[in-house]
Order: sequence, then structure tokens, then C-alpha cells
Amino acid sequence: MLLRSSAFIGLTCLLFIVGAPATRGAPPSATGPVSPIPTPPPPPTPEQLRVLAARMQTEVETLRGASFKHPVDVGLFTESEVRDFLRQDLDGSASAAARRAHATCAHQLIGLIPPGCDVQAAFEQMMMRFVPGGIYDHRSGALRIVHKPDLNVDSLSLRCVLVHELVHALDDQYFDFRKFLEDDAVTSDMEHVWGAVFEGSAVVVQEAYTAQRRRSGDFPAQVFEQLNAEGAEQMRTLAESPAHVAVWVARFPCGIRFLLHQQPGAFLRLVTGLGGPPSIGPAVEAAAGNLPRSFEQVLHPEKYWAAATRDEPVRIDDAAVEALLARAHLRVVFRDTLGELLCCLLTTPADRKFNPLELSMPTTWTNPAAAGWGGDRLFLVTAADAPEVAQPEPAAFGCVWFTMWDTPADCAEFIAAYRAHRPEAAADVMSLGERGAVFLHRLSGPRLEALRTSLPTEPPTCTHAGRPWSFRSP
Ligand SMILES: [Zn+2]
Repeated sequence: MLLRSSAFIGLTCLLFIVGAPATRGAPPSATGPVSPIPTPPPPPTPEQLRVLAARMQTEVETLRGASFKHPVDVGLFTESEVRDFLRQDLDGSASAAARRAHATCAHQLIGLIPPGCDVQAAFEQMMMRFVPGGIYDHRSGALRIVHKPDLNVDSLSLRCVLVHELVHALDDQYFDFRKFLEDDAVTSDMEHVWGAVFEGSAVVVQEAYTAQRRRSGDFPAQVFEQLNAEGAEQMRTLAESPAHVAVWVARFPCGIRFLLHQQPGAFLRLVTGLGGPPSIGPAVEAAAGNLPRSFEQVLHPEKYWAAATRDEPVRIDDAAVEALLARAHLRVVFRDTLGELLCCLLTTPADRKFNPLELSMPTTWTNPAAAGWGGDRLFLVTAADAPEVAQPEPAAFGCVWFTMWDTPADCAEFIAAYRAHRPEAAADVMSLGERGAVFLHRLSGPRLEALRTSLPTEPPTCTHAGRPWSFRSP
């Protein structure tokens, strides 16, 4: 789903997501006396928040390994202001709204989104059920803490929220979130990539900070138990959401594992605090400066970090496809790449619900049917002479989805699994060579016949790491 152009992607909420809840926090003390949790003091004043944020800024600089270029505007949001923030369109342009509508149509046609589902409403519902602790708005550079009844200036959870959102502010100062978030050509696959790099950065620093506090003894054990309980509740809420909405969460565990890949033992150091926090700066700078080319590289970090096993996605020549479609009197209105992550969703039951504990495991986000992904490209098409419509509906479009696979077996496995789990969407498939499959959604008559004739004889050209790639098995 194309979340970037809606309000969702700019939302950077706090998720206590590293590890299963049982692994987090100090265990209940079996021997020592249990110290009572103090009665919460009143909510922080703006001045208290400013002073605390300045302190947290220093902590973030140390753990993230970079200095703020300028101070961050920190303030409070009411829950209704959060709702308004979630609803507003981040880039607000007509082209963004059209892109979002077209993405929804395309994703419904291929069976990713159930018919009639309002993706934005479903996402908002998911987010508002646990109300994020904080928000960083890349347009204004402002960080807003969400004013909840139990918010107080001495709480650990406020510090954790500040740390997480301050990392977003810091990363934005170096890597200009607007450049990515306002690029019309960004695909669903790359949205998840971008999210994994920057949420990974924030969660690693947040977890390192939490682990330091746990070891310092600054807070009683019950405070960490409370954090665990909040984390478990967030996981449960997310797991109750439809899979195509809950998939947004993949960026957190996958981003953490991706960024720590080159430091053996770093994950354990992160969650235990033993041996000091991992050094996250170099990985964030490398990945943010040269984003992984696909979520496949995030799911399988060796495909990004190691030159010997680096695996670039297969790229199809858009212009060649569009010329071929034009000859079938079809016009392209939207392009996307789904990637391994969404191929995994398409090859699991449409009514899938996640186990809350599985959400934090990177292995949840791929499966054997999707793991042989080599590349894909989806074209939402309409009749060449069809007028532009203000409110696109799936019925007005067809979809041509090219998928490229590492091996013939991977290709066959995906076709079989897609057909098993989305029989209607996957009904019309054509093989291209031995490791390509093109799915034709809601196309019929002479246009479909034209494609059936031309696709096998003149398949579009593809490249892999800059070299020609053939649908035929080498
Ligand atoms: Zn975040």
C-alpha cells in the first residue's frame, strides 16, 4: 500500500518493539523489597519539557553518534491534535491524492487490500487505538509529545518517546526526509525500505537508552514492567489490524536487524545493555546515504552489506512496457513495485491476523513463496481513450503486474501460492520464460488478446545490476 503520500509515513510513533515482551525489562524481583511506584506528578509545563528535551538531545547525540545541527522545537499535542495530524495529507497536492487513489485501486485489484476497504481509515483506527506517544513532523521540524493523562516529567516513558522522536529530528537534519517523502516516483517497496532505515535508527537508540536506564537503577523495576505491558498492548492492537495495515510494523524489527547486521552480538548488547550500546551511526549513514534498493535487502541484510552476496532487484524497462501496452490501446496511470514484503502478504491467507509476539520477528515478514523475489513492476492501466476521473474506482482499471524470480522454481512456487491464497486476483497469469510471470487483472476482449499475443514474443527488457537480465533461465 502506498502509505507515504498519506499522513501515515510522516508519523513516527513510539513502539516498544524490540524482542518479545517477556525478554524486556528487569525480571520481577524475587528477593529484594518491591519499591512502590510514586504517585504521578502533574503533566510537564512547556519549560520543563524544553529542559528535559535539551538533556535528551545530549543523550541522543551520544547514542546515535551525530550532533544536532540546530535545536528541535518540542511541544505538546492533545489527542485530538494527533488525530488531526494523522488525517491531514502530508504533501496535500492533487497529484498526491490521485496517486494514493490509484495505488488503492491497484492494490485492490491484485488482492492486497480487500474490496471497499478504506486504507487510510483502517490505519488511523490502528494508530489511534494506542495513540502514539510522540510525533515528529518533517515539514515543520517540530516534535510533539502527546498529552496523555499519565504523562509526567519524571516518567521513563516520556524520556523514551523524546529519545525516539529526537532521533527522527536528527536524522531529518542530515538526510532531509522531505526529499524522499515528496518524490512522486517512490514505490511501496521503497517506502518500507525508507521506514526500516529511519525507524530502525530511532528504535535502536531508544532501546539503547532504555537498556542504560535499566542498568543504572534510576527507575524501579516496576517502571520497566509497565513499559513491557504497554509494549505488549501495542503489539496486541497491531496484531488485531488487517494484515495489509499491520505490515507497516515490519519496518521496526527488520530495520533493527538490518542496521545491526555488521556488528555480531549487537542485538544482544542492545536489549541487555551489557557491553555498551551498539554503534549505530556508521550503519545509518551508509544506509541512508545509499538506500537499500529493495526491502529484499532489508529482509536479507547480506544482500545489501556484503559485496559478494549483494543482490540488486531486477528492473524492467518501463518505457518498453508502456509502448507495448499502448499498442494494446492501454494507458498507464500508475506504477508501483511491491517487493518481497508485500509478495509475502499476497501468499498468506487474505484474512490473516498476526500473532502479537511474531510481529517483532523479522522472519514473520517473508515466506518461502516470496523469498525468491527478484523484482516486480505493477502498471495500473485504463483504455487509451478513457477520460481522467476525479475519484478513481477499481472498476475503471485493469492491472498488469510483472514479477521476476531468481529461479524457475521460485517463480512456480509464487504462482502456486498466489493462486492458492488470492484465487480471483491470480486467475489470469502468463509465464514469461521460466522465471517471469505476468498477472493480468481485470482485462478482457481485444486488449487482453493483444497482450497475450505480444508479451511472449516481445517481452520487455530487464536489467540486473546494470546488466541485461532474461526471463529465460540462464
Ligand atoms: Zn518512529
